[in-house]
Amino acid sequence: MKNFVKNDSGFICAVCGKAVEKLNSTSRDHCNFCLCSLHVDVNPGDRQNDCKGVLVPIEVTQNAKKGYIITYKCSKCGQTHNNKAAEDDNFSTILKVMNKTYNIDDYRNKNEIHAK
Ligand SMILES: [Zn+2]
Ligand SMILES: [Zn+2]
Repeated sequence: MKNFVKNDSGFICAVCGKAVEKLNSTSRDHCNFCLCSLHVDVNPGDRQNDCKGVLVPIEVTQNAKKGYIITYKCSKCGQTHNNKAAEDDNFSTILKVMNKTYNIDDYRNKNEIHAK
């Protein structure tokens, strides 16, 4: 048995600690505040990937049909991955990724960092 986090009922973001609520229209695959995701899928939604690294947004492109597409790079294995932005994604975060001023450390939940 594998342990996995179901994400159709919302989840707690591993990076910023936000409680991300579920979306009715599509399955939620990334945090709508810091935009980070976890590398858990081989194919979208299958949860078959053991990497579990943090997928960090590195680029946002605009697609005439699909809207904003976020390109992720896994901080652990380096694989890149595309995701569609959700309608309630934090737009200022999207802009930061577009302008290459995004810094994941600005979003990290400081309380989660263990003191030495
Ligand atoms: Zn987050
Ligand atoms: Zn990975």
